Amino acid sequence: MQRLYKLSRLIKRQLLWLLPFALVGLLVDKFWLSLSIGLVLAVVGNLFYFQRLNRWLWDSRTMLPPRAKGAWSDIYDGIYGALRRAQVKRRSLALLLQRFRQAAEAIPDAGLVLNADGTLEWTNKLAQIYFGIRWPADKGIRITNLIRYPRFHKYFEAGNFTKPITILSPIGDQRELELRFMPYADTQLLLMVRDVTQLSKLERMRKDFVANVSHELKTPLTVISGYLEMLEDGEQLPPQMMEKAVHEMQGQTKRMQRMVNQLLEISRMELQDKALFSKRVVLANVVQQAIDELAQSIQEKKLEMHVALDDKLSLWGDEDKLYSACMNLLTNAIKYTPEGGMIRVSWQRIASGAEFSVEDSGPGIAAEHIPRLTERFYRAESDRNSATGGTGLGLSIVKHALEHHRTKLMIESKPGKGSRFAFRINQALIAS
Ligand code: ADP
Repeated sequence: MQRLYKLSRLIKRQLLWLLPFALVGLLVDKFWLSLSIGLVLAVVGNLFYFQRLNRWLWDSRTMLPPRAKGAWSDIYDGIYGALRRAQVKRRSLALLLQRFRQAAEAIPDAGLVLNADGTLEWTNKLAQIYFGIRWPADKGIRITNLIRYPRFHKYFEAGNFTKPITILSPIGDQRELELRFMPYADTQLLLMVRDVTQLSKLERMRKDFVANVSHELKTPLTVISGYLEMLEDGEQLPPQMMEKAVHEMQGQTKRMQRMVNQLLEISRMELQDKALFSKRVVLANVVQQAIDELAQSIQEKKLEMHVALDDKLSLWGDEDKLYSACMNLLTNAIKYTPEGGMIRVSWQRIASGAEFSVEDSGPGIAAEHIPRLTERFYRAESDRNSATGGTGLGLSIVKHALEHHRTKLMIESKPGKGSRFAFRINQALIAS
């Protein structure tokens, strides 16, 4: 099929065609007439093949050109060869494009290609989800019509894409999206979008945590350094004041120690997040041990204790964590219940497994605080400045310890009506 076109061959062919006409013309003494007939026939022949070529080019659907003779076969074959080459190239380009699209769908980010004027040229599936794009109906729409925040509008029009911009998802699903524009091929823009909701949340939590720890440490440190300055100045304090200063400093030091220990306990629990249920724990013994340790405070506050623990009931779990959870709940009940109050502790079977609960006749908690009590450092506003000296970490530890046993803390409370803190252990974890 691949034939090289040569001008000499074309001329040779034309001369060969005219040669018989010239010879016959010479024989019959009509040289010019015969040559003219030959030329006219050549023109007619060319017109015929020219027409066939046109028909094939415009009307025919086949790739194969019509058959032809002589010089025309060179032209037909040449065109066919060019078409074949274009087809092969097109196929390999289509394959490349398909691979590129598959790769673009495989990346975990949303990707959009924009034209110089900011109109949408192409998007992957994730981008369609993040921005609620209907594809291909929205092709050609301007990105500023898709994301209608004035802040984004300003950022896009300024055209300075060195820093990414973070926006809330325009479809209102509270997703936080980080948008990075990358200009390429002179006029086009590649927009990569990443869901940073979780990252932002972690970042906020980290900042809150640092702010909380520094805030919580500031008060005791201010108190202690105040007293120390007083002592350093060599002031002769009356013995009563001296006693108060030492007592106060001790109290604040203890609070800081408790906080550091609780923080260490939380981070330890976070590190060992794998649930290990190899040990059989008799929770009644664990709770009794905690109550015994708290006996002095119970006595001092003259609290009425009702304890009902089923010592036949054991579960698969982590004894240290369970002790920590129960200890914190009991400590709170004792801490927040006023003198002469009542505390009811129970560990019993229920239909879905077993339940531990601590009920007290304390001040109760306002409804708006309840959902946030297990957050680190969260204390109901009324307790912030009170004398209980809490850190706001106790219930956070309880939450972690319970998560390990695939359960949650349930809190029921009403101001003035006492509180009930409980957790349920699923039947699957009950050993006997
Ligand atoms: P804290 O060290 O302040 O006690 P917790 O995380 O143990 O921290 O408790 C968080 C908050 O929950 C407390 O500041 C308190 O306001 C409230 N709370 C916890 N237990 C009780 C309870 N038994 N009665 C009333 N309020 C409670």
